[in-house]
Amino acid sequence: MKIAVLGTGTVGQTIAGKLESLGHDVMMGTRDPKATLAREKPDGFGRPPLKEWMTGHGSVRLGTYAEAAAHGELLVNATHGVASLEALAAAGKENINDKVLLDISNPLDLSKGFPPTLTISNTDSLGEQIQRAYPKAKVVKSLNTLSAFLMVAPSLLPEAHNLFISGNDEGAKNKVKALLYSFGWKEADLIDLGDITTARGTEQWLPLWARLMGTLKTERFNLRIVQGSVPH
Ligand code: NAP
Repeated sequence: MKIAVLGTGTVGQTIAGKLESLGHDVMMGTRDPKATLAREKPDGFGRPPLKEWMTGHGSVRLGTYAEAAAHGELLVNATHGVASLEALAAAGKENINDKVLLDISNPLDLSKGFPPTLTISNTDSLGEQIQRAYPKAKVVKSLNTLSAFLMVAPSLLPEAHNLFISGNDEGAKNKVKALLYSFGWKEADLIDLGDITTARGTEQWLPLWARLMGTLKTERFNLRIVQGSVPH
């Protein structure tokens, strides 16, 4: 499938690399491809320049957000949450159109360091804001609740763990689920929370996720929901 991965950070690289390995035709989107490829130094998170990653992923192309969105039959939003609406505006309404948009972003403000704060919460979510901005698009929020490398390799944890899905369109959610299965997720581990307003819950998990990372000193953890019938 032709897939656009908007975003060139850890998530963009991880998802694009996995999609490439699965045989998809992937274009990554960035603000300015020339400037992104000209970067020589690691970024603020110590990530090597994108051109180093690109040399190991020969079939992945890089374009502007608009070029990538035009290329993709399915779009992935892996941009910085505070800038996602700006990035999608650059991608262009005409290129987003009525496509499935897998939204992995979180509205985290890291400008004052760690721990991050949420820029949207309680009565709204970034997933909903994106859906409102692009009413024809089929926004599906998922993969935003765990670290990038677990997104495409869930079996790296020794036990079963859960992933959440939010979105208004059942057909779009099924397309995303099929993609998730191809990443190694099992049907039993996916929890479909319902419509896109349920993204409020998954985005608001991030403050606790960040604190857990600080305490556990690893990103290799995830949620496992245990249910049972409790006697009254
Ligand atoms: P990130 O540093 O949050 O985002 C990098 C991307 O955002 C780059 O492509 C960058 O564009 C773009 N960007 C930054 N400011 C922009 C602006 N003003 N306008 C347009 N685009 C802008 O990278 P990340 O860690 O890969 O995270 C991506 C998203 O996934 C975030 O929303 C994050 O919360 C979420 N997430 C991350 C993880 C994780 O493990 N890292 C896990 C779950 C969810 P350029 O390419 O032009 O530089």
